[in-house]
Amino acid sequence: MSPPLMTVVTADALPASADTVVIGAGIVGTSTAYWLARAGQRVVLLEKGRVGAEQSSRNWGWCRQQNRDARELPLSTRSLALWEEMAADIGENPGFSRCGLLYLSNDEKEIETWAAWGKFARGEGVVTYMLSAAEATERGAATGKPWRGGVWSPTDGTADPSSAAPTIARGVLKHGGMIVQNCAARGIERQAGSVCGVITERGVIRTRQVVLSGGAWAASFLRQLGIAFPQAAIRSSILSVAPGAKGLPAALHTSAVSVTRRSDGAHTLAISGFGKVDPTPGMIGAAKHFLPMFAKRWRLLSPGGLQAWQAGFETRQRWAMDRPTPMEAMRILDPRPSRNTLDLILKRARALLPELQNVPVQAEWAGYIDSTPDGIPVIDGDIGVKGLLLAAGFSGHGFGIGPGAGHLVADLVLGRKPIAETSQYRLSRFDKSQWGKVSEF
Ligand SMILES: Cc1cc2nc3c(=O)[nH]c(=O)nc-3n(C[C@H](O)[C@H](O)[C@H](O)COP(=O)(O)OP(=O)(O)OC[C@H]3O[C@@H](n4cnc5c(N)ncnc54)[C@H](O)[C@@H]3O)c2cc1C
Repeated sequence: MSPPLMTVVTADALPASADTVVIGAGIVGTSTAYWLARAGQRVVLLEKGRVGAEQSSRNWGWCRQQNRDARELPLSTRSLALWEEMAADIGENPGFSRCGLLYLSNDEKEIETWAAWGKFARGEGVVTYMLSAAEATERGAATGKPWRGGVWSPTDGTADPSSAAPTIARGVLKHGGMIVQNCAARGIERQAGSVCGVITERGVIRTRQVVLSGGAWAASFLRQLGIAFPQAAIRSSILSVAPGAKGLPAALHTSAVSVTRRSDGAHTLAISGFGKVDPTPGMIGAAKHFLPMFAKRWRLLSPGGLQAWQAGFETRQRWAMDRPTPMEAMRILDPRPSRNTLDLILKRARALLPELQNVPVQAEWAGYIDSTPDGIPVIDGDIGVKGLLLAAGFSGHGFGIGPGAGHLVADLVLGRKPIAETSQYRLSRFDKSQWGKVSEF
């Protein structure tokens, strides 16, 4: 089942040429196209299904600096300001507000980890407060329970996953960019090692610059070009309950369950880091890269089933450019959620927050989180084909940094000074072992 998603009306016809073609209209692709169009480029954004219909509408909506890996923190801080700037420029709010994030815990070790992060982050200018037991218990009053400690990050916030990518897509259109939905990019045409076109299911677009922001499909797409991108998708199940619960924090994390208020007053419920590993040919091929990640996170991961294999997004097959690809057979990756996980989420949420006792479930869904071996994305324009830039592998925390990631990609395409350091996002880092490099959060 898919979560709610705003519709964007876009073009049917394909242009003959473009300055840049962006493949994939999630939060990263729409943001990239937005900044390029705003800079005056002739940009075309291709989406095989609907704008925002995969990970970018299936997430919690957290836009956080809190507990962000140092490699992503500058992009995250910048993104919070860019959410506001985009909303003002587009004239519509993608549901973003700096509502603050609340973390509560009774586990001393977890509290210590947060304290250590806070010390580092305050040095970077982030506003984040450790909460004493009394303060945590007061802020967590809706739970009716005492807490040993917590964190309050007042300048962080949430955006609305059901409207964020579509709103930014409207910004692309406002700045003269073109978007074509239900149009898969099947491959890249090259001349002397450089991009010269994008082959789509509706014909070819001539261009010298392509950005691949294809989320969980990126590795299979790159394999067609002989480029190895170690990527593995984890299935995460999630549900929302109808509006009605009063007095809950806007965004609350506990190790048992996390709760986020949506723009319509509904609440999204989920368990952080919890996921099913559905084996795929791609994942098996990349297994050696992911051993450090699985070793670190095994307590939260459990074996899934064959649905990812059947969905075909992590295939090792070669596609024919003149025939439908798995992307056309699976316009929207809409995995079945795990029944056991959904039941557990609801049970834990109702035990944590009495206000949720009588509020009915509104929707249930799952999303495939596209992960890299170290949990940090790849944003790299030097991956083996001149004119092809990869922006994928956002590893479960790319929604909040989407606006900044898109800006960074646009900076690289336009040859501008990048808004953040880029060396940590290079694809070539996976040539080396990832032991000791997996993101803490
Ligand atoms: C349950 C869950 C909870 C999460 N919670 C959070 C959170 O609270 N905060 C946070 O920051 N992040 C969160 N995330 C992660 C976040 O949603 C992702 O990191 C982010 O949305 C990735 O955006 P994207 O644009 O890279 O990918 P996607 O949103 O997956 O978009 C990729 C798009 O590319 C299209 N595509 C692929 N290949 C092609 C092709 N060849 N041609 C045309 N189109 C193509 C796909 O159809 C898709 O629409 C969560 C994710 C999940 C699943």
